[in-house]
Amino acid sequence: MDRIYLDNAATTRLSRRALAAMLPFMEGEQGNPSSLHSYAREARKALERARGQVAHCIGAEEGEIVFTSGGSEGNNYLLRGSIEANRERGRHVITSAVEHPSVLNTLYVMEKQGGIQLTVLPVDGYGRVSVADLFTAIRADTVLVSVMLANNEVGTLQPVSSIGNLCRERGILFHVDAVQGAGHMPLDVQALGADLLTISAHKFHGPRGAGAAYVRKGTNISSLIIGGEQEKHRRAGTENVAGAVGLAEALTEQIETMEQEKVRLHDLSHRLIDGILSAIPDCQLTGHPIERLPGIVSFLFENVSADELLALLDMQGIAASAGSACTAGSNVPSHVLQAMGLLDGRRCAPLRLSMGRFTKEDDVDRVLDVLQKTVARLRG
Ligand SMILES: *Cc1c(COP(=O)(O)O)cnc(C)c1O
Repeated sequence: MDRIYLDNAATTRLSRRALAAMLPFMEGEQGNPSSLHSYAREARKALERARGQVAHCIGAEEGEIVFTSGGSEGNNYLLRGSIEANRERGRHVITSAVEHPSVLNTLYVMEKQGGIQLTVLPVDGYGRVSVADLFTAIRADTVLVSVMLANNEVGTLQPVSSIGNLCRERGILFHVDAVQGAGHMPLDVQALGADLLTISAHKFHGPRGAGAAYVRKGTNISSLIIGGEQEKHRRAGTENVAGAVGLAEALTEQIETMEQEKVRLHDLSHRLIDGILSAIPDCQLTGHPIERLPGIVSFLFENVSADELLALLDMQGIAASAGSACTAGSNVPSHVLQAMGLLDGRRCAPLRLSMGRFTKEDDVDRVLDVLQKTVARLRG
């Protein structure tokens, strides 16, 4: 039985093109980019080429890109680093209730340590932040706003451009966790009005453990990882050249195929949504019906246990998720669905099906068939 992988929001398969670009920097003798010989020059050249590629993909300048180990490090660095370095501008920070734990928990820890005052904006039933709520929450000492591009559990897009405009008018730093959206929708730091932005390679068919942080020119920021002078003193540690090269290649490839993939994934999503809603009673689509990523669909099934549903799907060769890989195995209900007001005392199973470049129409049809029978069995 062929297995079907529908957990692309958790991580994606490395593309062959990214792998091919990385291989020369993984096998054979490699130089440390900071050394002073020909091996080092080759590594340095590859790193700077990757930086240029990433900058080009998101409308930034080369000097504004810092390579990291991924989305979690990027979010920790951009939030901590910018809040600390801009202390004199204020201590009030605004975020949303549906952010990734690497944003929310970082800010909660900083709040607990007394470093910041935090306002967490509510979301509507679709998981969207209201710009009017943000407007009201802004204070004279607000230093930073952090709102994600697209939600990793339900796929809902946030009104980031409007938020960026508002922040710019008020002279407030704007951080965007673009990890889930990058490579799946057009991304331009100027259009977004973002001062700080996070991406991670493994969410768009690049390697795991490689990410990039965008820091707008002129933004004060202190580093998270202290040590040598790498990344212009912004991130110490010997650079992951292969990772940076793989990230840049994967992002470039993803953008080249974005328009056609968007249409294809949109069609597959609607095949899933229509199929599930028409064949399975007592279930609802979660997330925004239109303002959503093309590849993520998520549902709530009433009177079903999430663990049992995922286990039975897995036994039938279907890899899905209850929403977020980060909370799997714990019995804590999703903070996202909770913030959306969808979990009030009901027994129901969240299910996230996230598609990617390697998902085919046949996969969707088999999932529809298996899911219908499995939910019926669990209820019966
Ligand atoms: C996956 C994810 C992260 C974390 O990225 P890692 O590279 O796995 O650390 C952060 N934010 C969002 C929205 C994500 O989907």
